[in-house]
Amino acid sequence: MDILLVTKNNGKLNEFKRLLHKYNVNFLTLKDLNINDDIIEDGNSFIENAYIKAKTISVKYNYVTLADDSGLCVDSLGGAPGIYSARYAVEHNDVANNKKLLDELKNKEDRSAHFTCALCLYYPNGKYLTLEDYAYGTILKSPRGYDGFGYDPLFYSTEGKKTFAEMEGYEKDLYSHRANAIRKLGELVDENFNIK
Ligand code: IMP
Repeated sequence: MDILLVTKNNGKLNEFKRLLHKYNVNFLTLKDLNINDDIIEDGNSFIENAYIKAKTISVKYNYVTLADDSGLCVDSLGGAPGIYSARYAVEHNDVANNKKLLDELKNKEDRSAHFTCALCLYYPNGKYLTLEDYAYGTILKSPRGYDGFGYDPLFYSTEGKKTFAEMEGYEKDLYSHRANAIRKLGELVDENFNIK
């Protein structure tokens, strides 16, 4: 069976490929199929946005799809940047987003935060499932490490005891929100990725 991963983010794609390799399924990317659709993510939650992405592409292209919507939620910022994590700063890129995060936290004592990862697995027959999971940590005052993507250099994992950007891929896969969500998904699908 083919499953189409609905993301254009290379950082996420690398992680998905690592996390999903044990399944008896051929995972395709939007790039493989030359799909360039701009999906309007106008949901009010990570779950809603994951559902919108997975359903839009599944219905249009007739594939089983797996979509992720994820982001960073900082407690003292009322959960921001949250579902707006990719477009937090005016320039929608990692450097500007990280800089804005540090600016916003300048006078805050509480720097606790979590990443959320919502997943939606959608079948063209309309059957689907959604779920989310988390990774907890704190936001450092300056970046550490060079691996990963997004807010990884500022996110110090409580469990992993270093930033996600200081971890090798296999280590991030022990502690990340995406890994936790995929593990949860694994309990709900069989080895051929059919919903149990
Ligand atoms: P999305 O593509 O709309 O789901 O936006 C996800 C955004 O959240 C990314 O562009 C990153 O800024 C942030 N993000 C999500 N997951 C991670 C992660 O594992 N590490 C660092 N940043 C992440």
